[in-house]
Amino acid sequence: MLADNLFLKIIERKIPANICYEDDRCLAFHDINPQAPTHVLLVPKKVIPTHADVTDADRELLGHLHLVAAKLANQLGLSDGYRLVVNCRDRGGQTVPHLHMHLLGGRDMHWPPG
Ligand code: AMP
Repeated sequence: MLADNLFLKIIERKIPANICYEDDRCLAFHDINPQAPTHVLLVPKKVIPTHADVTDADRELLGHLHLVAAKLANQLGLSDGYRLVVNCRDRGGQTVPHLHMHLLGGRDMHWPPG
């Protein structure tokens, strides 16, 4: 069940977070419950509830998020590899209703994911 949009509260600085990147279109902060030595969440400032809600109007924003993710991975020392995850809706394991990318690294990743 999707909870409150607490990422919007982080974007609006209503609740604290360990922010590691910001520009006019997105914000990145460290996950409060890290699943890897590096676990950063990258969120657009535009409210898009889930990956399934993106439209053609979001094309450039989605590309921007990927470019930022790659730069962040490099800055965070993940040049040996990393994983990007977007959980979508209930069966995808999404808990916060604001599109976000998980950037995970610092350990070997396994396949298939859980
Ligand atoms: P998802 O399950 O894909 O919706 O991912 C939500 C993520 O948000 C989880 O990995 C949580 O650990 C993380 N999270 C929840 N609350 C916070 C918070 N206040 N600050 C940072 N990360 C959070």
